[in-house]
Amino acid sequence: MKRYSKSIKIGNTFIGGENSISVQSMTNTKTEDINATINQIRELEDIGCDIIRVAVPNHEAAMAIKDIKKMIKIPLVADIHFDYKLALESIKNGADKIRINPGNIGSKHKLEKVIIAAKRSQIPIRIGINAGSLERSILEKFGSPSSDAMIESALINIKLIESFEFDQIVVSIKSSNVSDTIKSYAKLSKMTDYPLHLGITESGTEKSGIIKSSIGIGCLLFQGIGDTIRVSLTGDPKKEIIVAKEILKSLGLLKNGIEIISCPTCGRCNVDLINIANTIENEINKLSTKKRIKIAVMGCAVNGPGEAKDADIGIAGGEGEFLLFIKGKPIGKISENSVIDEFIGEIKKLL
Ligand code: SF4
Repeated sequence: MKRYSKSIKIGNTFIGGENSISVQSMTNTKTEDINATINQIRELEDIGCDIIRVAVPNHEAAMAIKDIKKMIKIPLVADIHFDYKLALESIKNGADKIRINPGNIGSKHKLEKVIIAAKRSQIPIRIGINAGSLERSILEKFGSPSSDAMIESALINIKLIESFEFDQIVVSIKSSNVSDTIKSYAKLSKMTDYPLHLGITESGTEKSGIIKSSIGIGCLLFQGIGDTIRVSLTGDPKKEIIVAKEILKSLGLLKNGIEIISCPTCGRCNVDLINIANTIENEINKLSTKKRIKIAVMGCAVNGPGEAKDADIGIAGGEGEFLLFIKGKPIGKISENSVIDEFIGEIKKLL
């Protein structure tokens, strides 16, 4: 069962409560390069990104938010470190939420100014606790950026922000250590009812990052913990969205999208299934749908027809051809040469 959390409004969407789990990413363009940033955000919107974050390391980036906002549909989060004035400028320029790490934003007085501005603009704040940038006092107390150290930092900063009568808060406590991250979120989830933003920070390149994020985020979501997720990969942010959606699909948490089932192939397979399945997967990642659709791409008649029948639409390989199933019924045969185009065409009819 999903953990209870407050529902927090961010732009035209909500995080927490009964709302579905949103998928986030972060641009890797220079935010002040307005066109490049807009283009990247639009590409991410097209494949299902619900919320986008941009880095705001300087005045130009904060100013760019105004123009970027006009050209995108999804809520924009300004990511701020060190300089509270950049948070104020980002809010003024229309950011839908700001992410700060209170440990490096400066004095209580500076934080108060940011909170007053957020309150005035009615936008939420994410407290982004990161194992790599915990407050010195907490590190001295715990000796290392352990799970307990991150939780203490989160609780102190929640209290601090609440002391200014502000409760539009989202919290993250990220570490690059998967076990620490799981432990931290699991413990914190019992100590606060603010929505939790899940992620494994600096999780690595595509290969290791996908595995670490899937295990870390997946374990927490399976326990009903987490309201919004961000997969961090050293690579194209589009991959982050694809992986995040796959995690949600695997746990039955994606409100819409196409789930693919495909077999690993073996000596019984007489079609080029690996190439066909990969091409079909790439093509379906470009499609958007408001429905949940399950497709099966199977190599032969052993498990093929069974899985293909269980899916909304499926194909099972034979000798240079595939048997097509729709809603459990065999429809006919498709030649291996034209199977990709014909199968994608059939999928499009179901969207
Ligand atoms: S469906 Fe057929 S080809 Fe695929 S793994 Fe199973 S037995 Fe092998």
